[in-house]
Amino acid sequence: MTADSLAPAPEALAATDRARLVHPFLPAAQDKRVVMVEGEGCRLRDAEGRTYLDATAGMWLCQVGHGRAEIAEAAAAQMRRLEYATTFWDFTHDRAVALADRLVRLSRNGQGAAERVHFTSGGSEGVEIALRMARNFHHRRGQTERTWILTRTGSYHGAGYASGEVSDFPCYTTGFGPHPGRVHRLTAPYPYAMGLDPEQITDLLVDELEAAVASIGAHRIAAMIGEPVQALGGMIAPPDDYWPRIAEVLRRHGILLVMDEVVTAFGRVGHWFAADRMGVRPDLTVLSKGLTSGYFPLGAVLMTGRVADVVTGDGGFPVGHTYSGHPTGCAVAMANLDIIEREDLLAAADRTGARLAAELATLRGLPSVGETRQYGLMAAVEIVRDSPTRDPLPEGTYALADEIRDRTGVLVRGGPRALTLAPPLVMSDAEVTEAVAGIAEVLSGFHRRAAAPGPG
Ligand code: PMP
Repeated sequence: MTADSLAPAPEALAATDRARLVHPFLPAAQDKRVVMVEGEGCRLRDAEGRTYLDATAGMWLCQVGHGRAEIAEAAAAQMRRLEYATTFWDFTHDRAVALADRLVRLSRNGQGAAERVHFTSGGSEGVEIALRMARNFHHRRGQTERTWILTRTGSYHGAGYASGEVSDFPCYTTGFGPHPGRVHRLTAPYPYAMGLDPEQITDLLVDELEAAVASIGAHRIAAMIGEPVQALGGMIAPPDDYWPRIAEVLRRHGILLVMDEVVTAFGRVGHWFAADRMGVRPDLTVLSKGLTSGYFPLGAVLMTGRVADVVTGDGGFPVGHTYSGHPTGCAVAMANLDIIEREDLLAAADRTGARLAAELATLRGLPSVGETRQYGLMAAVEIVRDSPTRDPLPEGTYALADEIRDRTGVLVRGGPRALTLAPPLVMSDAEVTEAVAGIAEVLSGFHRRAAAPGPG
C-alpha cells in the first residue's frame, strides 16, 4: 500500500484542515481548500486530479522544478548516515562545511566576495541574524549608538519582530502592540508608479538617503537592508545605477549594506546572486528559498571577512538556532546546486525571462494592464483601474490571482498592485505561452466586467 492510498479523501482532509490547521492569511470562515498531492517539473496536481501550471515556483523558490528524485535521494542518503548534528560550539560536520565553502566560492566568482557563512532555517531567521550581526558588529567596535536600521517602502523581509518591522506590510506590525522601532523607511525605486526617468529616480533617492543620514546621524545607523529586486512589492527592479550609488553613500558613512537575496539568488536573475549583476558588494547577504529549491527549509547569511572577524571575536557570535547547518538541509542544498550548475539554469533564467517578457508585453493593450515588467525570471503585470491614471485596484490583485488559478489552472501570485510570476528556472517556452494565455483569458474578461455598467 502506498502512502497515497492511505491519504484521506479530499473532503475529509479539508474538513480536518479546517478544524486543526492555522494557515497564514486564511480567515477561519473560508471553506475552500486546494489540496496538493504531487508535483513534477512546473506542474502540480491536487487531490481532485486537477493539474496546475506553477508560474510561482511554490513561493518563488523551486528553481529546479518539482519532483526531482535526485534531491530526494540525497536527503535519504544523508538521513541514513547522519540525519542531524549541531553546529553549536565546536561541533561541526562535513555537509555544513562543504556547503559553506561552496557558497563562499560562488560569491567570489562574482562581486559578493563573502568569506564566512552562518546557516539558518529560512529567510526571516536569516534577516533576524543579519540585523543582529550588523548591530553587534558596531557594538563590539565601541560604536554602541549605531542601532538604527534603514529600510524601504514596499519591502518584505520576513515575519519575525525585527524582520517584520523592517518590512513595509502593515499586517506584520499592526495588532501586536508596541513596535521594536529604530527603523527609518526610505523610498524604494518604483519606476512605473513614480513615472520618472531612471536617472532622475536614482538622483532623488540618493539625495533622500543623504538627507536621512544627516538627520538621524551616521553615528546612530547600523545598516541598510534591501531586496535587490523587490519581490512581494511587485517584482520591481531599480534603475541600473541605483544600488552601486546607494552602496557608495553607505560605505562613506560606515553603514553596513544587508542585501536580502532570499528571492533573487541562485539563478533567479541569471546570476548566483543579484548583487553580481548589479555590481555591489554587500557586507551581509541573506539567502534561503532557491538554496534548496524548497526541498528542505534552509537559509544562510553570508558575510565579508571584515564583519565575520568582528562578530566571531571574544565569546563568538552570541546567538544560534537548533537547526543551524542541518546536515540533511545542507545535503539537499548541495544536490540542488549541482542541478543548477549541470543544467546551466542561470542561463536559462535570462533566456526564459526574455521570452516571458515578450509574451507578457502582448497584454499591454488591455486597459487593466498598466505595464508588464521582467528582470531575470521575475516578472509582473501591473494591474490598474485605468491605465492613464496608474491607480492600483484598492483591493490589490489577490482575488484576480485566485480567479486565474480556479479558471485556468495557472498559478500566479497576487499582491498590493501587481500579479507576479517567478516560475521554476526549468519552465519551457510552451509553458510560458500557456501561463500568459491563462492570465490573458481572465484579464480580458476582467476588463469587460469592470467596464460593463453594473447594478451600481
Ligand atoms: N525576504 C524576502 C525578500 C522574502 O520574499 C521572504 C519570504 N517570501 C523572506 C525574506 C522571509 O522568508 P521566510 O518566509 O523563509 O521566513
